[in-house]
Amino acid sequence: MTAPLEGQPCVVCGTAVRVRLAPWSARCGGCGTWRSTLQPQIESSSLHGAIDTAARSNGLKELRERNNERILDEIEGLRPVRDAEMLDVGPAHGWFMTAALTRGGRIQGVEPEEAIADYARGRGLTVRSGYFPGALDDAARFDTISFNDVLEHIPDVHATLRACAETLTPGGILSVNIPSATGLAFRVACLLRRLGIRGPYLRLWQEGLPSPHVHYFTPAALGQLIEQHGLIVRRTVPLSSVQRRGLWSRLHTVERPSPKSIFAFAALWLAAPILDRPSNSDIVLVLAQAPSASA
Ligand SMILES: [Zn+2]
Repeated sequence: MTAPLEGQPCVVCGTAVRVRLAPWSARCGGCGTWRSTLQPQIESSSLHGAIDTAARSNGLKELRERNNERILDEIEGLRPVRDAEMLDVGPAHGWFMTAALTRGGRIQGVEPEEAIADYARGRGLTVRSGYFPGALDDAARFDTISFNDVLEHIPDVHATLRACAETLTPGGILSVNIPSATGLAFRVACLLRRLGIRGPYLRLWQEGLPSPHVHYFTPAALGQLIEQHGLIVRRTVPLSSVQRRGLWSRLHTVERPSPKSIFAFAALWLAAPILDRPSNSDIVLVLAQAPSASA
């Protein structure tokens, strides 16, 4: 049993949260952070079988690749990637790892889902099975640690960020890219939910999927959270979340084409240029740096 959500302290600022829009979701009036009590079921590979991995891969790959290059560009603005010891937490199919290897980074991953870890290892990537930081050697230290669409799934973000601060080398970079509570998609989904349309809201939280979202941060609150662990936020960058190419297969990751999905495809196709504007961005990248040894 989970404790009642209403009145629990916000994970960022401690203000009592209020249940909003679903019995399992709540918002902090202090900093705008959302949280849910949806339960991740990472180990449940039978549930994961419901997802057509191939469709998901094709639909998302091009968008992810574009964003991965952007993330690496931003990291390189702060420190070199070449010869850096890098860790990717929850690398999934390993696209970010592949992009980092291409730039000469020495990157390894930690992936809890065994089948996906196997797949990435099969592609020649160095991936440990398990969770961060438990799956690592105690002495392991990294120049960069990245979370690509991962931190929003982790219930105890404080334990995770504390481990990042302890595991980064002096001047090392924490890179977090994550869905944003200030993004247009989240705001529209909240509006639709108030009007009685539940679908988009459930979809954004990934309700009913094996790994639902536990948090939706605003970019400012995420920065505040990270700085509570002694890291210094250096960059907050909007990333693209919707582009027309690959949209069809993205929408049909879990369902077959239906009148509803065709309507969603048309609406998103038309809205893609608006959704892609920086101020409406549904994905934010925050880069934070560990203090340097001399500081
Ligand atoms: Zn708060």
